[in-house]
Amino acid sequence: MLREKSAGAIVFYIENKKPVYLFLKHRSGHLDIPKGNIEKGETPLHAAKREIFEETGLSDINFIEGFEEKINYYYKSEGELIYKEVVIFLAQTKIKEVKISPEHLGFEWLDYETAYNNIKFENSKKVFLRAHQFIVEKFGI
Ligand code: ATP
Repeated sequence: MLREKSAGAIVFYIENKKPVYLFLKHRSGHLDIPKGNIEKGETPLHAAKREIFEETGLSDINFIEGFEEKINYYYKSEGELIYKEVVIFLAQTKIKEVKISPEHLGFEWLDYETAYNNIKFENSKKVFLRAHQFIVEKFGI
C-alpha cells in the first residue's frame, strides 16, 4: 500500500476580535487547507510553510506555538489504496491578498460557523474546532 505524509495549516487573520479562516477549493469540490507532501529532509513545519507559500502566496505568517494535530485517512487514486497522514498547524497572517496556484479552483475567507458547516470530513472538522478553541483561548476573544 502507498503511504503519503502531508503537512499544512489552518490559516487565519483576526478582524474585529473574530478569526477569519482561509480555505481553498479542492478540485474534487470540498474545502481544503493549504497542505502538501512532506519532501525528503523536510520537517512537517517547513513543508507546511513551503506549501502555504506555493498554494496561497502568503509568506508573512506566524505559526501559533503549541498547536499541532494529525489526521489520517485512506483514499483511492487510480485504483490504488493510499494511506495518508496529515500534520496540521495553525498560522496567523495579517495579509488578506491571496494568490492561489492552479492546483485549486478558488479560495474563500470564512467565519468559524460557515467554515465548520462546510468542511466535508469529520476528522478535519474536529481539528478545525480545536484550532478555533485554541485561538479563542489564546487571544481571549
Ligand atoms: P495534498 O494537498 O496533500 O497535496 P491532494 O490534494 O492530492 O493532496 P487530498 O486533499 O488528501 O489530496 O485528497 C485526496 C483524496 O482524499 C480526496 O479525493 C478526498 O476525497 C480524500 N480526503 C481528503 N481529505 C480527507 C479527510 N480529511 N478524510 C478522508 N478523506 C479525505
